[in-house]
Amino acid sequence: MRGDNGPVRPFLIGSTWTVGEGQAFESINPATGRSNGMIGGASRADVDRAVQAAKAAQAQPAWRNMLPHQRAAILRRIAERIEANATELAELQMRENGKLRAECVEQASNGAGAYRYFASICETMPSEVAPSRGEHLAMVLYEPFGVVAAITPWNSPLTLESQKVAAALAAGNAVVLKPSEFTPSVALRVAELALEAGLPPGLLNVVTGLGGETGAALVGHPDVRLISFTGGTATGKAIAREAAGRMAAVALELGGKSPHIVFADADVDKALEGVLNGVFSSTGQSCIAGTRLFVQRSLFDGFVERLVAAAQALRVGPPEDPASQVAPLSSFVHRDKVEAMVAMAREDGGRVLCGGTRPQDPRLADGAYFLPTIIGGVANSARICQQEVFGPVLCVMPFDDEADLVAQANDTAFGLACGVWTRDFPKAWRVARAIEAGTVWINTYKRLSVSVPFGGFKESGTGREKGYFGIRTYQEAKTVMVGF
Ligand code: NAD
Repeated sequence: MRGDNGPVRPFLIGSTWTVGEGQAFESINPATGRSNGMIGGASRADVDRAVQAAKAAQAQPAWRNMLPHQRAAILRRIAERIEANATELAELQMRENGKLRAECVEQASNGAGAYRYFASICETMPSEVAPSRGEHLAMVLYEPFGVVAAITPWNSPLTLESQKVAAALAAGNAVVLKPSEFTPSVALRVAELALEAGLPPGLLNVVTGLGGETGAALVGHPDVRLISFTGGTATGKAIAREAAGRMAAVALELGGKSPHIVFADADVDKALEGVLNGVFSSTGQSCIAGTRLFVQRSLFDGFVERLVAAAQALRVGPPEDPASQVAPLSSFVHRDKVEAMVAMAREDGGRVLCGGTRPQDPRLADGAYFLPTIIGGVANSARICQQEVFGPVLCVMPFDDEADLVAQANDTAFGLACGVWTRDFPKAWRVARAIEAGTVWINTYKRLSVSVPFGGFKESGTGREKGYFGIRTYQEAKTVMVGF
C-alpha cells in the first residue's frame, strides 16, 4: 500500500504485518527535515485485534506453562538479535529522533542488556514461603497480568521499550506495544527480530499511530490488565484516570525537573562536567536532566561563568558527525515548544546567559536545532523552573544554607532525580535522604543501570521499572495456603 510519500510501513498483529485501517502518518528526520517514510496507523479495530492476539497467545499453555529457563532462552536469543543488528537499530532511532549516533549505538547495546538481565531474573527469582501463623503452609506466587499495554515516548525507544517488553515477557505476559508516533521504527524492527528469535507470535504486537487515537484505544481496551507508560505527566494522569474506571493496573514513568546541587566544597572541575553533561547530553531530552542548578553562593558567580563558557563551546551538529556533542531536538514541533518556553522565561524576568536561539550555522538550517541555553535571574518559583522543558535549557540559582536548599529543591511537583556535589560525605548523605526523588546521584550524574529500580516520586510517576524486583511490576502476587 502507498501513502502520499511512498509505501506505508506495516505494523505487527500476531504474525501478520498490516498497514491497518487508521490514518497513515509520516516520520520526519529532525536533523534534515526530510521524510523517513509513511507508517501505518492502527485504528480502534486494529488495536482490538492486537489485544485479542495477545490474549490468545498469553493463554496458550505453551507460554503460560513454559519453564522459566526456556522462556529465558528466548529472551536471550532476542538479545543476541538486537546486538547483531545494533548498527541498523541505532540508525533507525537516529533518523527518527536525531540523537547522536554514538548514543544510539550504546542504547542498542543497553536494550540487549535489558533482555539478558530479565532472562536471568526470570530463571532465578524464587517464589516465597511466608512465616506460618498456624497449621498451614503459606506460599506467595507471582503470576502474569495477562495482556500488558506498553506505551513509550520518542526520546529513547531502544532502551525504554526493551526494559518494558523484556520484563513483561519474562513475567509471562503478552505485550501490545505502542511506540511514539515520532519513533515507530525501532519497535517494529525489534518485534521482527523477536519473531526470528523464536518468540511465539502474538506475545509481542506493535501498533503504530497517534496517542489520542491508537494509544487511547489501547488504554481503554477492557482486556488490557496493566498499562506500563513512559511519557509526559499530563498524559500519564489521563491514562491513570481511564485505567481507574476498570481498576486496570498502571506503572507510570513521567516527567522531571531535577535539582542539581553544587556545594562550595565540591570538586569544581568534576561538578562542572557533571552539570554540563547532566543537562545538555541528549540535547536535554531526558526525563532525568538536571535542569535546576543550585550553586552555593560563594561559588556561584565563578561557577556560572565557567559553565556558560563550556556550554558555548559545545559543538552543535548533525547526529551522524562523531564530532557533534549536541544534536537537534527530536522534532520541529518540539523545537518550537522549547523556543516558546525560553520566551516565557524572558517574560518572567529571566536573563539568557547563553544560547536561547537556533544556531546560525547554515549547515544546520534545515534541522530542528536549538543552542544550549542557560538562564539566570529567576527564582525557583518561576514558570521556567517549575515546568518541564525537555530541551537544552538550564536555570541557575544561588543558595545559602542546606535547609533552604533542600526546601527549594523539593519545591516542585516532580521527583525523578537529583545530583549532589560535595566532598563532605555526611552532608551528601543528609541531602540525599532529604530529597524527594526516585534517584539521587552523589558526585556523579545520569548514571543508569538496569540492575537498580528506576521511577519517580510525586508527579514523576508511580511504580518502578528495572532492578531485581522490576519483574514484579509486571506480576500479580497470589497467596496459596495449604491446610495440614
Ligand atoms: P507524551 O506523553 O506526549 O507521549 C508518550 C506516549 O504516549 C506516545 O507514544 C504517545 O503517542 C502516547 N499518548 C499520547 N496521548 C495518549 C493518550 N491520550 N492515550 C494513550 N497514549 C497516549 O510524551 P513524549 O512527548 O513522547 O515524551 C516526553 C515525556 O516523556 C517527557 O515528559 C519526559 O519527561 C517523559 N519521559 C519520562 C521518562 C521516565 O522514565 N520517567 C523517560 C523518558 C521520557
